[in-house]
Amino acid sequence: MSTIKVNIVTPDGPVYDSEVEMVIARTATGEIGVLPGHIPTVAPLEIGAVRLNKDNGAADLVAVSGGFIEIRPDKVTILAQAAETATNIDVDRAKAAAERAQQRLQQAKQDDVDMKRAQLALNRAMNRINVFEGK
Ligand code: ATP
Repeated sequence: MSTIKVNIVTPDGPVYDSEVEMVIARTATGEIGVLPGHIPTVAPLEIGAVRLNKDNGAADLVAVSGGFIEIRPDKVTILAQAAETATNIDVDRAKAAAERAQQRLQQAKQDDVDMKRAQLALNRAMNRINVFEGK
């Protein structure tokens, strides 16, 4: 099976660079599965795990905290606000962030802006915990 080049970059630098068989990512309009030869596309990404299926049958997971996916037939570039591979995730930090966000959600019930911020922080933290756990 042919492969496609994938780069995941953040403002802090590159996070992932490999050749894979398939990229699965969560865009604003739903999950997208990208194989070599995909038509050129740009789409905004949700907070979620990007799954990278390798030609040896293994898969890498990268926690992505929103951004954009740019697809070309031979290359996928993900420009992310933040991104971590499973081995780079500090799960205790993510658990603490999830707890803080949950407390803020309890307290901020009347304030839409605070609610939205706390919900996004909770989503980022839960995404990191899931990727750390291989989900
Ligand atoms: P926190 O409240 O723990 O800072 P956050 O969701 O607000 O979490 P971000 O603003 O998304 O953090 O990320 C800031 C930087 O810290 C990014 O470089 C991101 O990759 C890194 N980062 C955040 N949380 C973790 C984590 N649990 N493990 C490893 N790196 C993390």
